[in-house]
Amino acid sequence: MSQDCIFCKIVNKELPSEIVYEDDLILAFNDVNPQAPVHVIIVPKEHFDSLLSVPAGNDIISHIHTVVNRIVLKLGIADSGFRLVINCGRDGNQTVPHLHYHLLGGRPLLWPPG
Ligand code: 5GP
Ligand code: ZN
Repeated sequence: MSQDCIFCKIVNKELPSEIVYEDDLILAFNDVNPQAPVHVIIVPKEHFDSLLSVPAGNDIISHIHTVVNRIVLKLGIADSGFRLVINCGRDGNQTVPHLHYHLLGGRPLLWPPG
Protein backbone atom coordinates (compact mmCIF):
# COMPACT_ATOMS: atom_id res chain seq x y z
CA MET A 1 0.00 0.00 0.00
CA SER A 2 1.31 3.40 -0.99
CA GLN A 3 -0.14 6.38 0.84
CA ASP A 4 -2.35 8.58 -1.36
CA CYS A 5 -2.33 6.09 -4.26
CA ILE A 6 -5.78 6.00 -5.87
CA PHE A 7 -5.42 2.44 -7.10
CA CYS A 8 -4.17 1.18 -3.71
CA LYS A 9 -7.28 2.74 -2.20
CA ILE A 10 -9.46 0.99 -4.79
CA VAL A 11 -7.66 -2.31 -4.07
CA ASN A 12 -8.30 -1.82 -0.34
CA LYS A 13 -11.96 -0.89 -1.01
CA GLU A 14 -11.42 2.54 0.55
CA LEU A 15 -12.65 3.95 -2.77
CA PRO A 16 -15.52 2.41 -4.75
CA SER A 17 -15.08 0.73 -8.13
CA GLU A 18 -17.03 -1.54 -10.45
CA ILE A 19 -15.07 -4.76 -10.02
CA VAL A 20 -15.08 -7.21 -12.94
CA TYR A 21 -12.49 -9.69 -11.61
CA GLU A 22 -10.57 -10.24 -8.39
CA ASP A 23 -8.16 -12.81 -7.04
CA ASP A 24 -5.40 -12.85 -4.42
CA LEU A 25 -2.96 -10.95 -6.62
CA ILE A 26 -4.95 -8.62 -8.88
CA LEU A 27 -8.08 -6.50 -9.19
CA ALA A 28 -9.82 -5.54 -12.44
CA PHE A 29 -12.38 -2.73 -12.49
CA ASN A 30 -14.13 -0.47 -14.99
CA ASP A 31 -12.28 2.71 -15.93
CA VAL A 32 -14.05 5.80 -14.60
CA ASN A 33 -13.55 7.53 -17.97
CA PRO A 34 -14.02 4.75 -20.53
CA GLN A 35 -12.49 5.15 -23.99
CA ALA A 36 -14.33 2.16 -25.45
CA PRO A 37 -17.45 0.12 -24.64
CA VAL A 38 -15.15 -2.15 -22.61
CA HIS A 39 -12.42 -0.30 -20.72
CA VAL A 40 -11.13 -2.18 -17.72
CA ILE A 41 -8.14 -1.33 -15.53
CA ILE A 42 -6.16 -4.33 -14.25
CA VAL A 43 -3.87 -3.71 -11.29
CA PRO A 44 -1.64 -5.83 -9.09
CA LYS A 45 -2.76 -5.58 -5.47
CA GLU A 46 0.84 -4.90 -4.55
CA HIS A 47 1.92 -1.34 -5.33
CA PHE A 48 4.52 -0.91 -8.08
CA ASP A 49 5.03 2.62 -9.40
CA SER A 50 5.27 1.40 -13.00
CA LEU A 51 6.29 -1.56 -15.14
CA LEU A 52 9.90 -0.58 -14.49
CA SER A 53 9.44 -1.11 -10.74
CA VAL A 54 8.63 -4.82 -10.96
CA PRO A 55 11.64 -6.80 -9.75
CA ALA A 56 13.15 -9.49 -11.97
CA GLY A 57 11.70 -12.87 -11.03
CA ASN A 58 8.38 -11.46 -9.81
CA ASP A 59 5.61 -13.38 -11.59
CA ILE A 60 2.86 -10.70 -11.40
CA ILE A 61 3.18 -9.86 -15.11
CA SER A 62 2.75 -13.45 -16.26
CA HIS A 63 -0.15 -13.85 -13.83
CA ILE A 64 -1.97 -10.85 -15.31
CA HIS A 65 -1.38 -12.05 -18.87
CA THR A 66 -2.74 -15.47 -17.96
CA VAL A 67 -5.84 -14.12 -16.22
CA VAL A 68 -6.74 -11.81 -19.14
CA ASN A 69 -8.07 -14.92 -20.88
CA ARG A 70 -10.68 -15.38 -18.14
CA ILE A 71 -11.58 -11.68 -18.04
CA VAL A 72 -12.19 -11.32 -21.79
CA LEU A 73 -14.34 -14.45 -21.80
CA LYS A 74 -16.40 -13.02 -18.94
CA LEU A 75 -16.75 -9.66 -20.72
CA GLY A 76 -17.71 -11.29 -24.03
CA ILE A 77 -14.84 -9.81 -26.10
CA ALA A 78 -12.71 -12.93 -26.55
CA ASP A 79 -13.95 -13.48 -30.11
CA SER A 80 -14.22 -9.86 -31.27
CA GLY A 81 -10.77 -8.98 -29.92
CA PHE A 82 -9.28 -6.41 -27.60
CA ARG A 83 -6.19 -4.40 -26.75
CA LEU A 84 -4.05 -4.70 -23.61
CA VAL A 85 -1.89 -1.63 -22.92
CA ILE A 86 0.56 -0.41 -20.31
CA ASN A 87 1.28 3.31 -20.27
CA CYS A 88 4.66 3.96 -18.69
CA GLY A 89 6.16 7.27 -17.64
CA ARG A 90 5.70 10.78 -19.04
CA ASP A 91 5.79 10.08 -22.77
CA GLY A 92 3.69 6.95 -22.25
CA ASN A 93 1.05 9.21 -20.65
CA GLN A 94 0.96 7.28 -17.39
CA THR A 95 -1.15 9.43 -15.06
CA VAL A 96 -1.62 7.04 -12.12
CA PRO A 97 1.69 5.86 -10.66
CA HIS A 98 0.51 2.36 -9.77
CA LEU A 99 1.25 -0.26 -12.43
CA HIS A 100 -1.89 -0.98 -14.43
CA TYR A 101 -3.05 -2.42 -17.71
CA HIS A 102 -5.81 -0.97 -19.85
CA LEU A 103 -8.05 -3.65 -21.38
CA LEU A 104 -10.00 -2.09 -24.25
CA GLY A 105 -12.58 -3.62 -26.54
CA GLY A 106 -16.14 -3.62 -27.79
CA ARG A 107 -15.33 -1.55 -30.89
CA PRO A 108 -12.62 -1.48 -33.59
CA LEU A 109 -9.54 0.21 -32.12
CA LEU A 110 -7.29 2.45 -34.21
CA TRP A 111 -3.60 1.69 -34.63
CA PRO A 112 -1.28 3.37 -34.00
CA PRO A 113 -2.88 5.31 -31.14
CA GLY A 114 -2.31 9.06 -31.04
P1 5GP B 1 -2.99 6.04 -17.22
O1 5GP B 1 -3.11 7.31 -18.00
O2 5GP B 1 -2.24 6.24 -15.92
O3 5GP B 1 -2.43 4.91 -18.03
O4 5GP B 1 -4.46 5.60 -16.90
C1 5GP B 1 -5.12 5.84 -15.70
C2 5GP B 1 -6.56 5.46 -15.92
O5 5GP B 1 -7.18 5.37 -14.66
C3 5GP B 1 -7.35 6.48 -16.72
O6 5GP B 1 -7.94 5.83 -17.85
C4 5GP B 1 -8.39 7.02 -15.75
O7 5GP B 1 -9.64 7.25 -16.36
C5 5GP B 1 -8.47 5.90 -14.73
N1 5GP B 1 -8.80 6.36 -13.40
C6 5GP B 1 -8.22 7.39 -12.72
N2 5GP B 1 -8.76 7.51 -11.50
C7 5GP B 1 -9.69 6.53 -11.39
C8 5GP B 1 -10.59 6.17 -10.36
O8 5GP B 1 -10.64 6.75 -9.27
N3 5GP B 1 -11.42 5.11 -10.60
C9 5GP B 1 -11.39 4.43 -11.78
N4 5GP B 1 -12.25 3.40 -11.92
N5 5GP B 1 -10.55 4.74 -12.79
C10 5GP B 1 -9.71 5.79 -12.60
ZN1 ZN C 1 -0.76 1.96 -5.38
